[in-house]
Amino acid sequence: MLSKIILNAIFLFSVLTVFAQTDDGKKTHTKVLKLTNNVYMLQGKGGNIGLSIGRDGIFMIDDQYAENIEQVQNEIKRVSDKPVRFLVNTHFHGDHTGGNPAMAETGTVIFSQENVRRRLQEVIAKETKRISESALPMITFTEDLTFYFNGEKIFVFHVHNAHTDGDAMVYFMGSNVLHTGDVFFNGKYPFIDIENGGSLNGYIAGLEKAMMVINEDTKIIPGHGDEGTFKDLRKTAEMLNTIYKRVYSQYVNKKTEEEVAKMTDLTEEYDREGYGSGFINTENFLRMVYKEVAKELGKDAEDRETRNKEAMKKYKEIEKKLKEKEKN
Ligand SMILES: [Zn+2]
Repeated sequence: MLSKIILNAIFLFSVLTVFAQTDDGKKTHTKVLKLTNNVYMLQGKGGNIGLSIGRDGIFMIDDQYAENIEQVQNEIKRVSDKPVRFLVNTHFHGDHTGGNPAMAETGTVIFSQENVRRRLQEVIAKETKRISESALPMITFTEDLTFYFNGEKIFVFHVHNAHTDGDAMVYFMGSNVLHTGDVFFNGKYPFIDIENGGSLNGYIAGLEKAMMVINEDTKIIPGHGDEGTFKDLRKTAEMLNTIYKRVYSQYVNKKTEEEVAKMTDLTEEYDREGYGSGFINTENFLRMVYKEVAKELGKDAEDRETRNKEAMKKYKEIEKKLKEKEKN
């Protein structure tokens, strides 16, 4: 009996992959990957978690759903019994911040871009979900923030109006690992939360900013999907630029959203690689890009119209004055 218990214990501790029951009854797969000496990636039900584990303790990026946090905490304990001192939220979505109250309870200090705190406050005020005030980050920043932790510089920087209006990326400078938050879905069409300040152009600009900060050897923890490389990130930026241009020319040619949503040739080479098999399928992605183009060009047209109207008004005033002068 005792040997069986020991064997079971050995088995449990030797496997870094476990299954747990979640609220919806589905089994969740949680996996911890060691990327460098002290940086880890934890994959589970929500967004990918990044961890720096070393002599100063644990630095954490995102904490998935509330219902999974115990499992996440247990997974972390299997690697280290040190406390999680700091946690950065890459944005406010519940699959990245759901564990905040439980983390705060253990004494972890939570950081985020200031719009993340504001968005979370809105969610709490709407009371659509019961979320405790302790979910709110205790410290916020506007542009960037640097941690000196576990022997390296950890650079946290804001990318504007990308996936939301509060996105942050986290770059472990010594380990050369970047956590992108949801400004990178590796190998999939991204979700852009336009209602909460996200935009396609900001998303592309965010990827470009990331490429300026990192280098070709950087390991990347995407918001969703498997560990990525500089090339994967560049490919996503190219994909977004390409499809944006294609949809743009269809819009200029007076094609409607319904028509463009069915133009599978616009995304063909990416669909073949599985880009449409994630959270956002091809049709929804094309609709999103179309709306972004329409918003941009629609605004342009509106501006032109007001400028024309103003010019016409001025012209008429001048005409009137000239006529009055002639009479005198
Ligand atoms: Zn998100």
